[in-house]
Amino acid sequence: NKIIIAIDGHSSCGKSSTAKGAASRLDYTYIDTGAMYRAVTLYFHNHHISLSNDKEIEEALDAIDIEFRKDKLGKSLTVLNGVSVENEIRKLYIANKVSEVSALPQVRHAMVAQQRKMGQKKGVVMDGRDIGSVVFPDAELKIFMTADPVVRAHRRQAELMEKGDLMSFEDILENLKKRDYLDSTRKESPLIQVPDAEIIDTSHMTLEEQIELVCILADE
Ligand code: C5P
Repeated sequence: NKIIIAIDGHSSCGKSSTAKGAASRLDYTYIDTGAMYRAVTLYFHNHHISLSNDKEIEEALDAIDIEFRKDKLGKSLTVLNGVSVENEIRKLYIANKVSEVSALPQVRHAMVAQQRKMGQKKGVVMDGRDIGSVVFPDAELKIFMTADPVVRAHRRQAELMEKGDLMSFEDILENLKKRDYLDSTRKESPLIQVPDAEIIDTSHMTLEEQIELVCILADE
């Protein structure tokens, strides 16, 4: 019986790699909601949308179409209005802006509506900040992931370096801490640990162990 697996938690603690790995092992669909907020942020950046102008925001949201596609190697691509933005949305200038954009109520409403549609047919692993609390409060399995910020910053740095993006450790750590703070303290659907979530601290875990644990929990 296929279920909905909701994975929430802090930035860069391995949520998306774990969710992706578990989805592929369970033959589920993986949905990266962070990528959706990043794509909106990129659109707002490119179109110089003022975050204090409600009408501009509404019009921009109406003009945004986000979908996920697979490339030839099966890697998931985030597609914004027909164009893959997968690499662009991972850059630090987007990471530095995304928490501000994702705190806007109109942005959240638009994304949550789309995420609920995407999860209609079960067999879904969705990761983000408000999946177990807002998007799918009835999800059969909820997971809250976290890890030591220093460990997270090292992992993110290695990940960025692989893509040729050389960022200082301090800049990355600062961005993580700032996003955690903004995501947990915003008015609209803050990142919270819901009482029925299984907590996974990945500070001393390998990716393989994280995926295994999620699959075991999904089986229970
Ligand atoms: O998961 P990722 O780090 O890519 O998410 C980027 C940002 O998008 C988060 O820091 C948060 O501000 C926002 N986000 C959110 N709600 C979600 C997923 C992401 O507010 N469900």
